[in-house]
Amino acid sequence: MTKHIFVTGGVVSSLGKGLTSAAIGLLLERRGLTVSMQKLDPYINVDPGTMSPFQHGEVYVTDDGAETDLDLGHYERYTHAKLTKNSNFTTGKIYQSVIKKERHGDYLGRTVQVIPHITDAIKDAIHRGVVPETVDVAITEIGGTVGDIESLPFLEAIRQFALDLPREDVLFVHITLLPYLRASGEMKTKPTQQSVGKLREIGIQPDILICRTEERMTEDMGRKISLFCNVRRQAVIEERDVAFSIYEVPVDLKKKGLDKIVLEHLRLPAEEETDLGDWEAMLAEIKNVTKTCEIAVVGKYIELHDAYKSIYESLAHAGIANHVKVVIRKVRAEDVLEKGTEILAGVDGLLVPGGFGERGLEGKIASIRWARENRVPFFGICLGLQCAVIEFARNVAGLEEAHTLEHSPHTPDPVIHLMESQEDVSDKGGTMRLGAYECRVHEGTLAHGLYQKELISERHRHRYEVNNDYRARLAEAGLVSSGVHPGLNLVEIVELPSHPFFIGVQFHPEFQSSPLRAHPIFRGFVSAALSHRDEADAGAGRVGARQPLKNRV
Ligand code: GLN
Repeated sequence: MTKHIFVTGGVVSSLGKGLTSAAIGLLLERRGLTVSMQKLDPYINVDPGTMSPFQHGEVYVTDDGAETDLDLGHYERYTHAKLTKNSNFTTGKIYQSVIKKERHGDYLGRTVQVIPHITDAIKDAIHRGVVPETVDVAITEIGGTVGDIESLPFLEAIRQFALDLPREDVLFVHITLLPYLRASGEMKTKPTQQSVGKLREIGIQPDILICRTEERMTEDMGRKISLFCNVRRQAVIEERDVAFSIYEVPVDLKKKGLDKIVLEHLRLPAEEETDLGDWEAMLAEIKNVTKTCEIAVVGKYIELHDAYKSIYESLAHAGIANHVKVVIRKVRAEDVLEKGTEILAGVDGLLVPGGFGERGLEGKIASIRWARENRVPFFGICLGLQCAVIEFARNVAGLEEAHTLEHSPHTPDPVIHLMESQEDVSDKGGTMRLGAYECRVHEGTLAHGLYQKELISERHRHRYEVNNDYRARLAEAGLVSSGVHPGLNLVEIVELPSHPFFIGVQFHPEFQSSPLRAHPIFRGFVSAALSHRDEADAGAGRVGARQPLKNRV
Protein backbone atom coordinates (compact mmCIF):
# COMPACT_ATOMS: atom_id res chain seq x y z
CA MET A 1 0.00 0.00 0.00
CA THR A 2 1.35 3.41 -0.98
CA LYS A 3 1.51 5.99 1.80
CA HIS A 4 0.75 9.63 1.03
CA ILE A 5 2.40 12.89 2.02
CA PHE A 6 0.56 16.13 1.27
CA VAL A 7 2.53 19.36 1.32
CA THR A 8 0.65 22.64 1.70
CA GLY A 9 1.88 26.21 2.10
CA GLY A 10 0.79 29.09 4.27
CA VAL A 11 1.27 32.82 4.91
CA VAL A 12 2.87 33.72 1.55
CA SER A 13 3.78 32.08 -1.74
CA SER A 14 7.38 31.47 -2.91
CA LEU A 15 8.41 29.66 0.27
CA GLY A 16 10.15 26.96 -1.74
CA LYS A 17 7.46 24.31 -1.26
CA GLY A 18 8.64 22.57 -4.41
CA LEU A 19 12.21 22.39 -3.16
CA THR A 20 11.15 21.17 0.27
CA SER A 21 8.88 18.52 -1.26
CA ALA A 22 11.71 17.37 -3.51
CA ALA A 23 14.06 17.28 -0.50
CA ILE A 24 11.61 15.06 1.40
CA GLY A 25 11.51 12.77 -1.66
CA LEU A 26 15.31 12.57 -1.70
CA LEU A 27 15.52 11.82 2.03
CA LEU A 28 13.03 8.97 1.64
CA GLU A 29 14.84 7.54 -1.37
CA ARG A 30 18.06 7.56 0.63
CA ARG A 31 16.32 5.25 3.08
CA GLY A 32 15.75 2.77 0.27
CA LEU A 33 12.11 3.77 -0.31
CA THR A 34 10.59 4.51 -3.71
CA VAL A 35 8.64 7.73 -4.22
CA SER A 36 6.34 9.39 -6.72
CA MET A 37 5.94 13.15 -6.87
CA GLN A 38 3.02 15.26 -8.00
CA LYS A 39 1.93 18.91 -8.03
CA LEU A 40 -1.65 20.15 -7.92
CA ASP A 41 -1.99 23.74 -9.13
CA PRO A 42 -5.12 25.72 -8.29
CA TYR A 43 -5.10 28.07 -11.33
CA ILE A 44 -7.61 27.65 -14.15
CA ASN A 45 -5.26 27.28 -17.14
CA VAL A 46 -5.34 23.62 -18.22
CA ASP A 47 -1.54 23.67 -18.07
CA PRO A 48 1.12 26.40 -17.93
CA GLY A 49 1.98 25.84 -21.61
CA THR A 50 0.07 28.92 -22.76
CA MET A 51 1.25 31.21 -19.96
CA SER A 52 3.92 33.86 -20.38
CA PRO A 53 7.23 32.94 -18.76
CA PHE A 54 7.02 36.34 -17.07
CA GLN A 55 3.85 35.14 -15.31
CA HIS A 56 4.79 31.63 -14.52
CA GLY A 57 8.49 31.05 -15.12
CA GLU A 58 9.73 28.20 -17.25
CA VAL A 59 7.42 25.51 -18.58
CA TYR A 60 8.89 22.14 -17.63
CA VAL A 61 8.37 19.24 -20.04
CA THR A 62 8.14 15.56 -19.13
CA ASP A 63 9.19 12.59 -21.27
CA ASP A 64 5.57 11.90 -22.21
CA GLY A 65 5.12 15.47 -23.40
CA ALA A 66 3.25 17.18 -20.56
CA GLU A 67 3.86 20.93 -20.21
CA THR A 68 4.09 21.41 -16.47
CA ASP A 69 4.99 23.58 -13.52
CA LEU A 70 8.68 24.22 -12.93
CA ASP A 71 8.54 22.56 -9.52
CA LEU A 72 8.57 19.27 -11.40
CA GLY A 73 12.10 20.20 -12.39
CA HIS A 74 13.09 20.19 -8.72
CA TYR A 75 11.43 16.79 -8.30
CA GLU A 76 13.49 15.32 -11.15
CA ARG A 77 16.74 16.95 -10.06
CA TYR A 78 16.43 15.60 -6.51
CA THR A 79 14.72 12.24 -6.92
CA HIS A 80 14.20 9.33 -9.30
CA ALA A 81 10.43 9.81 -9.31
CA LYS A 82 8.93 9.02 -12.69
CA LEU A 83 7.04 12.08 -13.90
CA THR A 84 4.20 11.83 -16.41
CA LYS A 85 1.14 13.74 -17.57
CA ASN A 86 -0.43 12.67 -14.27
CA SER A 87 2.23 14.40 -12.22
CA ASN A 88 0.69 17.86 -12.60
CA PHE A 89 -3.01 18.73 -12.43
CA THR A 90 -4.56 22.18 -12.46
CA THR A 91 -8.10 23.32 -11.66
CA GLY A 92 -8.54 23.73 -15.43
CA LYS A 93 -7.54 20.14 -16.15
CA ILE A 94 -9.80 18.82 -13.37
CA TYR A 95 -12.82 20.86 -14.54
CA GLN A 96 -12.14 19.90 -18.15
CA SER A 97 -12.42 16.20 -17.26
CA VAL A 98 -15.59 16.73 -15.18
CA ILE A 99 -17.28 18.83 -17.87
CA LYS A 100 -16.37 16.26 -20.53
CA LYS A 101 -18.05 13.54 -18.46
CA GLU A 102 -21.09 15.76 -17.91
CA ARG A 103 -21.45 16.37 -21.67
CA HIS A 104 -21.12 12.65 -22.22
CA GLY A 105 -24.03 12.06 -19.89
CA ASP A 106 -21.97 10.13 -17.35
CA TYR A 107 -23.58 11.81 -14.33
CA LEU A 108 -27.00 10.33 -15.21
CA GLY A 109 -29.03 13.47 -14.67
CA ARG A 110 -27.50 14.50 -11.34
CA THR A 111 -26.52 18.07 -10.54
CA VAL A 112 -22.74 18.32 -10.96
CA GLN A 113 -21.13 20.06 -7.96
CA VAL A 114 -17.77 20.93 -6.42
CA ILE A 115 -18.43 18.36 -3.70
CA PRO A 116 -18.46 15.50 -4.60
CA HIS A 117 -17.74 15.68 -8.34
CA ILE A 118 -14.77 18.05 -8.47
CA THR A 119 -13.29 16.66 -5.25
CA ASP A 120 -13.74 13.10 -6.57
CA ALA A 121 -11.91 14.08 -9.75
CA ILE A 122 -9.07 15.52 -7.62
CA LYS A 123 -8.87 12.35 -5.52
CA ASP A 124 -8.76 10.32 -8.70
CA ALA A 125 -5.95 12.57 -10.00
CA ILE A 126 -3.99 11.92 -6.79
CA HIS A 127 -4.32 8.17 -7.33
CA ARG A 128 -3.23 8.51 -10.94
CA GLY A 129 -0.17 10.46 -9.85
CA VAL A 130 1.15 7.39 -8.04
CA VAL A 131 3.57 6.15 -10.72
CA PRO A 132 4.30 3.26 -10.68
CA GLU A 133 1.45 2.04 -8.51
CA THR A 134 3.88 0.13 -6.32
CA VAL A 135 5.83 3.11 -4.91
CA ASP A 136 6.20 3.26 -1.14
CA VAL A 137 5.40 6.95 -0.71
CA ALA A 138 3.51 9.39 -2.96
CA ILE A 139 4.29 13.05 -2.32
CA THR A 140 1.70 15.57 -3.49
CA GLU A 141 2.37 19.28 -3.29
CA ILE A 142 -0.61 21.65 -3.36
CA GLY A 143 0.26 24.91 -5.14
CA GLY A 144 -0.88 28.29 -3.85
CA THR A 145 -1.38 29.37 -0.27
CA VAL A 146 -3.91 28.19 2.31
CA GLY A 147 -6.68 30.78 2.39
CA ASP A 148 -6.79 31.30 -1.39
CA ILE A 149 -10.26 30.78 -2.86
CA GLU A 150 -8.82 28.59 -5.65
CA SER A 151 -7.10 26.18 -3.24
CA LEU A 152 -10.26 25.21 -1.37
CA PRO A 153 -11.43 22.25 -3.49
CA PHE A 154 -7.91 20.78 -3.40
CA LEU A 155 -7.65 21.07 0.38
CA GLU A 156 -11.14 19.62 0.77
CA ALA A 157 -10.15 16.75 -1.53
CA ILE A 158 -7.01 15.86 0.45
CA ARG A 159 -9.01 16.00 3.68
CA GLN A 160 -11.47 13.51 2.19
CA PHE A 161 -8.63 11.45 0.75
CA ALA A 162 -7.19 10.94 4.24
CA LEU A 163 -10.59 9.75 5.52
CA ASP A 164 -10.37 6.63 3.39
CA LEU A 165 -6.94 5.55 4.65
CA PRO A 166 -5.48 4.46 8.00
CA ARG A 167 -4.14 7.47 9.92
CA GLU A 168 -0.54 6.27 9.61
CA ASP A 169 -0.78 6.15 5.82
CA VAL A 170 -1.28 9.89 5.37
CA LEU A 171 0.97 12.73 6.49
CA PHE A 172 0.20 16.43 6.23
CA VAL A 173 3.18 18.77 6.03
CA HIS A 174 2.53 22.50 6.20
CA ILE A 175 5.22 24.98 5.20
CA THR A 176 4.93 28.46 6.65
CA LEU A 177 6.91 31.63 7.18
CA LEU A 178 8.20 33.13 10.41
CA PRO A 179 8.68 36.74 9.34
CA TYR A 180 11.58 38.61 10.88
CA LEU A 181 10.81 42.19 11.86
CA ARG A 182 14.03 44.07 11.51
CA ALA A 183 12.83 47.14 13.41
CA SER A 184 12.11 45.18 16.58
CA GLY A 185 14.61 42.40 15.86
CA GLU A 186 12.00 39.67 16.42
CA MET A 187 10.48 36.80 14.53
CA LYS A 188 6.72 36.43 14.60
CA THR A 189 4.68 33.26 14.97
CA LYS A 190 1.21 34.77 14.54
CA PRO A 191 0.95 34.35 10.74
CA THR A 192 1.82 30.66 11.20
CA GLN A 193 -0.82 30.28 13.91
CA GLN A 194 -3.39 31.89 11.63
CA SER A 195 -2.45 29.79 8.63
CA VAL A 196 -2.70 26.58 10.65
CA GLY A 197 -6.01 27.88 12.05
CA LYS A 198 -7.30 28.19 8.47
CA LEU A 199 -6.19 24.63 7.68
CA ARG A 200 -7.89 23.29 10.78
CA GLU A 201 -11.12 25.10 9.83
CA ILE A 202 -11.06 23.03 6.65
CA GLY A 203 -10.51 19.92 8.74
CA ILE A 204 -6.78 19.35 8.21
CA GLN A 205 -4.51 19.09 11.23
CA PRO A 206 -0.90 19.33 10.02
CA ASP A 207 1.42 16.63 11.39
CA ILE A 208 4.61 18.53 10.60
CA LEU A 209 5.22 22.27 10.38
CA ILE A 210 8.22 23.44 8.42
CA CYS A 211 8.96 27.04 9.32
CA ARG A 212 10.89 29.06 6.78
CA THR A 213 13.04 31.65 8.55
CA GLU A 214 15.83 34.13 7.98
CA GLU A 215 17.05 33.86 11.56
CA ARG A 216 17.25 31.04 14.08
CA MET A 217 13.96 29.80 15.52
CA THR A 218 14.45 29.78 19.30
CA GLU A 219 13.35 26.91 21.56
CA ASP A 220 10.69 29.22 23.05
CA MET A 221 9.25 29.95 19.66
CA GLY A 222 9.25 26.27 18.75
CA ARG A 223 7.31 25.49 21.91
CA LYS A 224 4.87 28.35 21.35
CA ILE A 225 4.16 27.27 17.77
CA SER A 226 3.72 23.68 18.94
CA LEU A 227 1.20 24.72 21.59
CA PHE A 228 -0.86 27.08 19.45
CA CYS A 229 -0.84 24.91 16.34
CA ASN A 230 -1.37 21.57 18.06
CA VAL A 231 1.76 20.01 16.53
CA ARG A 232 4.29 18.02 18.58
CA ARG A 233 7.37 20.13 19.40
CA GLN A 234 9.81 17.85 17.53
CA ALA A 235 7.61 18.14 14.43
CA VAL A 236 7.97 21.94 14.36
CA ILE A 237 11.02 22.24 12.16
CA GLU A 238 13.06 25.27 11.26
CA GLU A 239 14.08 25.60 7.62
CA ARG A 240 16.43 28.55 7.54
CA ASP A 241 17.49 30.30 4.29
CA VAL A 242 20.46 28.40 2.90
CA ALA A 243 23.76 30.18 2.61
CA PHE A 244 25.18 29.16 -0.75
CA SER A 245 23.14 26.52 -2.60
CA ILE A 246 19.60 25.19 -2.78
CA TYR A 247 21.11 21.72 -2.66
CA GLU A 248 21.80 22.30 1.04
CA VAL A 249 18.10 21.98 1.85
CA PRO A 250 17.92 18.16 2.19
CA VAL A 251 21.07 18.05 4.31
CA ASP A 252 19.74 20.80 6.55
CA LEU A 253 16.34 19.09 6.93
CA LYS A 254 18.03 15.80 7.75
CA LYS A 255 20.04 17.54 10.47
CA LYS A 256 16.77 18.79 11.95
CA GLY A 257 15.46 15.21 12.02
CA LEU A 258 12.72 15.62 9.42
CA ASP A 259 13.38 12.21 7.83
CA LYS A 260 12.95 10.40 11.17
CA ILE A 261 9.71 12.21 12.02
CA VAL A 262 8.23 11.43 8.58
CA LEU A 263 9.15 7.75 8.85
CA GLU A 264 7.89 7.42 12.40
CA HIS A 265 4.54 8.94 11.48
CA LEU A 266 4.17 6.71 8.43
CA ARG A 267 5.28 3.67 10.49
CA LEU A 268 8.16 2.98 8.14
CA PRO A 269 11.48 1.57 9.40
CA ALA A 270 13.39 4.49 10.90
CA GLU A 271 16.38 2.88 12.63
CA GLU A 272 19.01 3.28 9.94
CA GLU A 273 20.72 6.51 8.93
CA THR A 274 19.80 8.38 5.77
CA ASP A 275 22.90 8.23 3.58
CA LEU A 276 23.56 11.58 1.92
CA GLY A 277 27.30 10.98 1.44
CA ASP A 278 27.49 11.74 -2.29
CA TRP A 279 25.14 14.70 -1.88
CA GLU A 280 27.35 16.13 0.87
CA ALA A 281 30.46 15.61 -1.26
CA MET A 282 28.75 17.52 -4.06
CA LEU A 283 27.97 20.37 -1.65
CA ALA A 284 31.58 20.43 -0.44
CA GLU A 285 32.61 20.78 -4.08
CA ILE A 286 30.31 23.82 -4.50
CA LYS A 287 31.54 25.34 -1.25
CA ASN A 288 35.25 24.90 -1.82
CA VAL A 289 35.51 25.87 -5.43
CA THR A 290 37.67 28.92 -6.08
CA LYS A 291 37.85 29.09 -9.86
CA THR A 292 35.14 30.88 -11.81
CA CYS A 293 34.08 31.15 -15.41
CA GLU A 294 31.46 33.47 -16.81
CA ILE A 295 28.66 32.52 -19.19
CA ALA A 296 26.39 35.04 -20.90
CA VAL A 297 22.77 33.95 -21.18
CA VAL A 298 21.11 36.13 -23.82
CA GLY A 299 17.35 35.85 -23.57
CA LYS A 300 14.03 37.61 -23.80
CA TYR A 301 12.74 36.90 -20.29
CA ILE A 302 16.02 37.66 -18.56
CA GLU A 303 14.56 39.76 -15.72
CA LEU A 304 12.86 36.73 -14.24
CA HIS A 305 15.23 34.07 -12.87
CA ASP A 306 12.52 31.40 -12.95
CA ALA A 307 12.03 31.83 -16.71
CA TYR A 308 15.31 29.94 -17.36
CA LYS A 309 15.39 27.96 -14.12
CA SER A 310 16.49 24.58 -15.49
CA ILE A 311 19.13 26.22 -17.68
CA TYR A 312 20.72 28.06 -14.75
CA GLU A 313 20.58 24.87 -12.69
CA SER A 314 22.17 22.84 -15.51
CA LEU A 315 25.00 25.39 -15.78
CA ALA A 316 25.56 25.06 -12.03
CA HIS A 317 25.66 21.24 -12.39
CA ALA A 318 28.21 21.58 -15.19
CA GLY A 319 30.22 23.85 -12.88
CA ILE A 320 30.25 21.14 -10.20
CA ALA A 321 31.42 18.57 -12.76
CA ASN A 322 34.22 20.92 -13.93
CA HIS A 323 35.25 22.11 -10.43
CA VAL A 324 34.39 25.70 -11.23
CA LYS A 325 31.75 28.19 -10.17
CA VAL A 326 29.74 29.31 -13.17
CA VAL A 327 28.92 33.00 -12.96
CA ILE A 328 26.01 34.00 -15.16
CA ARG A 329 25.86 37.31 -16.97
CA LYS A 330 22.18 37.79 -17.71
CA VAL A 331 21.79 39.83 -20.89
CA ARG A 332 18.51 41.12 -22.37
CA ALA A 333 18.56 40.16 -26.03
CA GLU A 334 17.31 43.63 -27.02
CA ASP A 335 20.25 45.23 -25.23
CA VAL A 336 22.68 43.47 -27.56
CA LEU A 337 21.20 45.48 -30.43
CA GLU A 338 20.79 48.71 -28.47
CA LYS A 339 24.15 48.72 -26.70
CA GLY A 340 26.21 46.56 -29.05
CA THR A 341 28.04 43.28 -28.53
CA GLU A 342 30.51 45.06 -26.22
CA ILE A 343 28.16 44.09 -23.41
CA LEU A 344 29.30 40.51 -24.02
CA ALA A 345 32.99 41.35 -23.72
CA GLY A 346 34.94 39.17 -21.30
CA VAL A 347 32.49 36.28 -21.08
CA ASP A 348 33.86 32.77 -21.56
CA GLY A 349 30.81 31.31 -23.25
CA LEU A 350 27.45 32.28 -24.75
CA LEU A 351 24.20 30.40 -24.20
CA VAL A 352 21.07 31.34 -26.13
CA PRO A 353 18.02 29.60 -24.64
CA GLY A 354 14.64 28.74 -26.15
CA GLY A 355 11.89 31.27 -26.64
CA PHE A 356 8.90 32.53 -28.54
CA GLY A 357 8.00 35.79 -30.25
CA GLU A 358 10.04 38.20 -32.33
CA ARG A 359 11.26 40.55 -29.62
CA GLY A 360 14.95 40.08 -29.00
CA LEU A 361 15.44 37.73 -31.96
CA GLU A 362 17.90 39.97 -33.84
CA GLY A 363 19.81 40.57 -30.59
CA LYS A 364 20.24 36.84 -30.17
CA ILE A 365 21.38 36.50 -33.77
CA ALA A 366 23.92 39.34 -33.30
CA SER A 367 25.31 37.75 -30.15
CA ILE A 368 25.71 34.37 -31.92
CA ARG A 369 27.58 36.08 -34.74
CA TRP A 370 29.87 37.64 -32.14
CA ALA A 371 30.54 34.24 -30.53
CA ARG A 372 31.16 32.56 -33.88
CA GLU A 373 33.54 35.24 -35.14
CA ASN A 374 35.41 35.58 -31.84
CA ARG A 375 35.65 31.81 -31.31
CA VAL A 376 33.81 32.05 -28.00
CA PRO A 377 32.10 28.75 -26.98
CA PHE A 378 28.44 28.80 -27.99
CA PHE A 379 25.49 26.65 -26.95
CA GLY A 380 22.07 27.27 -28.52
CA ILE A 381 18.91 25.62 -27.25
CA CYS A 382 15.75 25.31 -29.38
CA LEU A 383 15.19 28.91 -30.55
CA GLY A 384 18.93 29.28 -29.85
CA LEU A 385 19.67 26.63 -32.51
CA GLN A 386 17.20 28.26 -34.90
CA CYS A 387 18.93 31.65 -34.46
CA ALA A 388 22.34 30.04 -35.04
CA VAL A 389 21.12 28.54 -38.31
CA ILE A 390 19.69 31.90 -39.45
CA GLU A 391 22.91 33.71 -38.50
CA PHE A 392 25.07 31.20 -40.34
CA ALA A 393 22.82 31.21 -43.42
CA ARG A 394 22.90 35.01 -43.60
CA ASN A 395 26.53 35.72 -42.80
CA VAL A 396 28.39 32.66 -44.06
CA ALA A 397 26.22 30.79 -46.57
CA GLY A 398 25.31 33.99 -48.44
CA LEU A 399 21.55 33.83 -47.88
CA GLU A 400 21.24 37.42 -46.72
CA GLU A 401 17.51 37.40 -46.12
CA ALA A 402 17.37 34.01 -44.44
CA HIS A 403 14.82 33.88 -41.63
CA THR A 404 12.35 31.70 -39.78
CA LEU A 405 8.79 31.38 -41.05
CA GLU A 406 7.69 31.93 -37.48
CA HIS A 407 8.47 35.65 -37.79
CA SER A 408 8.96 36.30 -41.48
CA PRO A 409 6.30 34.49 -43.53
CA HIS A 410 7.61 35.96 -46.80
CA THR A 411 11.34 35.39 -46.46
CA PRO A 412 12.88 34.09 -49.71
CA ASP A 413 15.02 31.70 -47.63
CA PRO A 414 13.01 30.05 -44.86
CA VAL A 415 15.91 28.13 -43.30
CA ILE A 416 13.61 27.48 -40.32
CA HIS A 417 10.11 26.42 -41.29
CA LEU A 418 6.98 24.90 -39.82
CA MET A 419 6.92 21.15 -39.31
CA GLU A 420 4.54 19.44 -41.68
CA SER A 421 2.60 17.98 -38.77
CA GLN A 422 2.02 21.53 -37.47
CA GLU A 423 0.56 23.04 -40.62
CA ASP A 424 -3.11 22.57 -39.75
CA VAL A 425 -2.80 23.11 -36.02
CA SER A 426 -4.78 26.10 -34.74
CA ASP A 427 -5.13 25.47 -30.99
CA LYS A 428 -2.19 26.80 -28.99
CA GLY A 429 -2.39 24.61 -25.88
CA GLY A 430 -0.55 21.26 -25.85
CA THR A 431 -0.09 21.12 -29.62
CA MET A 432 3.65 21.62 -30.12
CA ARG A 433 6.12 18.79 -30.78
CA LEU A 434 6.34 17.78 -27.14
CA GLY A 435 8.23 15.29 -25.04
CA ALA A 436 10.98 12.75 -25.64
CA TYR A 437 12.18 11.88 -29.14
CA GLU A 438 15.13 9.83 -30.22
CA CYS A 439 18.08 11.34 -32.00
CA ARG A 440 20.87 9.57 -33.87
CA VAL A 441 24.22 11.23 -33.23
CA HIS A 442 26.83 10.89 -35.98
CA GLU A 443 30.16 9.43 -35.01
CA GLY A 444 33.17 11.71 -35.13
CA THR A 445 31.18 14.84 -34.24
CA LEU A 446 31.43 17.07 -31.19
CA ALA A 447 27.99 15.84 -30.07
CA HIS A 448 29.08 12.21 -30.28
CA GLY A 449 32.20 13.00 -28.28
CA LEU A 450 30.03 14.55 -25.56
CA TYR A 451 27.31 11.90 -25.38
CA GLN A 452 29.65 8.97 -26.08
CA LYS A 453 26.78 7.14 -27.74
CA GLU A 454 24.85 7.03 -30.94
CA LEU A 455 21.22 6.91 -29.86
CA ILE A 456 20.02 9.52 -27.38
CA SER A 457 16.60 10.66 -26.18
CA GLU A 458 15.85 14.30 -25.38
CA ARG A 459 12.73 16.36 -24.66
CA HIS A 460 11.17 18.77 -27.09
CA ARG A 461 8.86 21.79 -27.09
CA HIS A 462 8.69 23.58 -30.45
CA ARG A 463 6.72 23.97 -33.69
CA TYR A 464 9.47 25.02 -36.09
CA GLU A 465 12.51 23.12 -37.34
CA VAL A 466 15.50 23.32 -39.67
CA ASN A 467 14.35 23.23 -43.30
CA ASN A 468 15.92 20.15 -44.93
CA ASP A 469 16.01 21.94 -48.31
CA TYR A 470 18.90 24.02 -46.96
CA ARG A 471 20.82 21.28 -45.19
CA ALA A 472 23.28 20.55 -48.02
CA ARG A 473 23.96 24.23 -48.64
CA LEU A 474 24.60 24.93 -44.96
CA ALA A 475 26.80 21.83 -44.68
CA GLU A 476 28.89 22.93 -47.68
CA ALA A 477 29.45 26.26 -45.95
CA GLY A 478 30.53 24.43 -42.77
CA LEU A 479 27.48 23.99 -40.52
CA VAL A 480 27.06 20.26 -39.92
CA SER A 481 23.91 18.41 -38.81
CA SER A 482 25.42 16.07 -36.25
CA GLY A 483 22.18 14.68 -34.82
CA VAL A 484 19.01 13.74 -36.68
CA HIS A 485 15.71 12.12 -35.71
CA PRO A 486 16.03 8.68 -37.28
CA GLY A 487 12.44 8.24 -38.49
CA LEU A 488 11.35 11.77 -39.29
CA ASN A 489 14.71 12.98 -40.62
CA LEU A 490 14.49 16.17 -38.55
CA VAL A 491 17.67 18.04 -37.67
CA GLU A 492 18.21 17.82 -33.92
CA ILE A 493 21.81 19.03 -33.50
CA VAL A 494 23.98 21.38 -35.55
CA GLU A 495 27.62 22.20 -34.99
CA LEU A 496 30.53 24.06 -36.51
CA PRO A 497 33.65 21.85 -36.71
CA SER A 498 35.84 24.86 -37.54
CA HIS A 499 35.00 26.48 -34.18
CA PRO A 500 36.36 25.41 -30.75
CA PHE A 501 32.83 24.74 -29.41
CA PHE A 502 29.72 25.74 -31.32
CA ILE A 503 26.62 23.60 -30.90
CA GLY A 504 22.89 24.09 -31.26
CA VAL A 505 20.20 21.63 -30.24
CA GLN A 506 16.51 21.60 -31.16
CA PHE A 507 15.61 19.89 -27.89
CA HIS A 508 15.85 20.91 -24.23
CA PRO A 509 18.78 19.15 -22.54
CA GLU A 510 18.27 21.29 -19.42
CA PHE A 511 15.39 18.98 -18.44
CA GLN A 512 17.74 16.04 -17.98
CA SER A 513 20.53 17.43 -15.84
CA SER A 514 20.96 16.95 -12.11
CA PRO A 515 23.57 18.02 -9.56
CA LEU A 516 25.06 14.54 -9.32
CA ARG A 517 24.87 13.93 -13.09
CA ALA A 518 25.52 17.03 -15.17
CA HIS A 519 24.19 16.84 -18.71
CA PRO A 520 26.99 16.00 -21.18
CA ILE A 521 26.48 19.05 -23.42
CA PHE A 522 26.37 21.47 -20.48
CA ARG A 523 29.45 19.76 -19.03
CA GLY A 524 31.31 20.04 -22.34
CA PHE A 525 30.21 23.64 -22.81
CA VAL A 526 31.50 24.76 -19.40
CA SER A 527 34.72 22.83 -19.98
CA ALA A 528 35.18 24.66 -23.31
CA ALA A 529 34.39 27.97 -21.57
CA LEU A 530 37.13 27.20 -19.03
CA SER A 531 39.66 26.52 -21.79
CA HIS A 532 38.63 29.76 -23.45
CA ARG A 533 39.12 31.57 -20.21
CA ASP A 534 42.54 30.04 -19.62
CA GLU A 535 43.61 31.00 -23.13
CA ALA A 536 42.36 34.55 -22.64
CA ASP A 537 44.21 34.79 -19.33
CA ALA A 538 47.39 33.39 -20.83
CA GLY A 539 47.06 35.81 -23.74
CA ALA A 540 46.74 38.70 -21.31
CA GLY A 541 49.77 37.41 -19.40
CA ARG A 542 47.93 37.07 -16.12
CA VAL A 543 47.25 33.42 -15.60
CA GLY A 544 44.88 32.94 -12.65
CA ALA A 545 44.75 36.67 -11.96
CA ARG A 546 41.74 37.80 -13.87
CA GLN A 547 40.20 41.17 -13.15
CA PRO A 548 36.90 41.15 -11.26
CA LEU A 549 34.13 40.50 -13.71
CA LYS A 550 31.69 43.29 -14.34
CA ASN A 551 27.95 42.95 -14.73
CA ARG A 552 27.67 39.97 -12.46
CA VAL A 553 24.16 39.16 -11.40
N1 GLN B 1 9.56 29.38 -31.15
C1 GLN B 1 10.32 28.27 -31.62
C2 GLN B 1 9.44 27.13 -32.11
O1 GLN B 1 8.28 27.06 -31.78
C3 GLN B 1 11.28 27.78 -30.57
C4 GLN B 1 10.60 27.16 -29.39
C5 GLN B 1 11.50 27.02 -28.21
O2 GLN B 1 12.57 27.62 -28.13
N2 GLN B 1 11.09 26.27 -27.20
O3 GLN B 1 9.90 26.28 -32.83
